[in-house]
This record gives sequence, C-alpha cells and structure tokens, in this order.
Amino acid sequence: MGEDKTRGGKAMPSKASARRSITAEVVNKLYETLSGGNFKVGDRLPSEFELAEQFGVGRSAIREAVRELVAFGVLELRRGTGTFVTAVPNGRVGSHEDLYEQLRKMAAQDLLELRLLIEPEVAAIAAKRATAEELLKLRADVEGLAGSDGSPAPEDIGFHLHLVAATHSRSLQRITSWIVEFFDESGVDTSQDDYNDHSAILDAVASRQPELARELMRQHLREVGRKLNLEDTLNQVTETKVVEAALSRRRPTS
Ligand SMILES: [Zn+2]
Repeated sequence: MGEDKTRGGKAMPSKASARRSITAEVVNKLYETLSGGNFKVGDRLPSEFELAEQFGVGRSAIREAVRELVAFGVLELRRGTGTFVTAVPNGRVGSHEDLYEQLRKMAAQDLLELRLLIEPEVAAIAAKRATAEELLKLRADVEGLAGSDGSPAPEDIGFHLHLVAATHSRSLQRITSWIVEFFDESGVDTSQDDYNDHSAILDAVASRQPELARELMRQHLREVGRKLNLEDTLNQVTETKVVEAALSRRRPTS
C-alpha cells in the first residue's frame, strides 16, 4: 500500500462521488452546528426533516451524514427515541473542508492500528504455510508493482489479500479483507517503496523465515502510516473534545 491520493483530478464526477461530496458537506455543516455552542452531550438532535429543511438538502443526505457522525462517535442512534449527541466538538479543526478528510483519516489510523496487530502475524503464518502455487501468486503481485507509475495498482492490495489467503485461515481472511479494502477504497497510490517492501516480505515468506516476514510487514505498515500522515492527523484531531471522547470510549486505559 502506498501514498495518500486525493479524490480530485478525475474528469467527470460520478453520481456516487457527487453524492459523497454532498454527504461530506452535510457532515461538516452538522459538525459546525454541534460546535456552535447550542448543543451539549446528551442533547437530542433535531429531526431528519428539520435538519433537511435547515440545510436545504434531502433527508437521505441527512441520514447518511448522521450515519457517518455515528461511526465517528459524535452522535448516537437510540432506537425509537432519536439521535443524541455523544461528544461535543470543541473548536475548529482546520477548515471545514479539511474536517471530513481528517475524520476519515482518524478512522484510517484506527484501522491501521488493527492492521499492525494482524498483518505481521499473517506474514509469519504465511511463511510457514504458503504453498508453491500461493508463492507464485504473490510473486505476480510483487512484479505487478515493478516500475509502478504511482497510480493505484490492483496488485498492491492483491499482495496483502493473497498473503492472508496463504495463512489458510478463513477467519483471518474474512477479518483482514474488509480492513485492507478500506485502504483500497481511499485510493492509495503505489510507489517503488511498496515494490521493495513487498518484494522483501515475499522473499522472507518464500524462504520460510516467519520472524523476518513479521518484522518486515510491521515496518511496511508503519511506513504506510507515515506516508498517509496518520500520525500527524491523529495529533491534530486529538485537540478536539470530540476525538478525545471517541478515543476514550474505544481505548479504555485499563
Ligand atoms: Zn503494501
């Protein structure tokens, strides 16, 4: 996996991406409303209908934005009673345009931590179990990245998924595929570094060196995080109460 890529630069925005940008805008507006001082934790959010009127968008856009803020830990849906504020944003996090991307990166940071827990172990297990046929598939993925022009390549995510397949663990495959695909969705560029990293990991796997494979995967994922500036982003967003609250819920200090 490689560097971050913004969604811009495409010739014509698709219907889906137009809808995404409306959702992103509504997420930002909602966030602004919540940080305006009129809401506190435990308050009930106005109805979908009221918010749709207020923001001049459809109710489905409100629904999607609310769903995103629920995922980010800002709002909570209580069945039958409505939507409630679980964390009040404290001040601005850069411009509103940046906020959505920052929230997304926060989720990426969270998932990268999970990848760091799982994938080094995946590499170690694959070094013990990969069949000759699986090694060939991995080799093809690695070679597919050779001379990468910096655009996203299917062989990038393919390598990570084929490595999981080589563990012969169905549970690991299920868990890991959706995590890795999250990174794929965010449009990740590949680079010569990825080729080098993947190539070294494969060599360790093929020569049956689990410890080495584990360590190389760990280094590779740390590098992915560094390139995506996830460290920086986390530091930035932790300045807000909303993120503190979200993190304290997800990472109890026990
Ligand atoms: Zn990779």
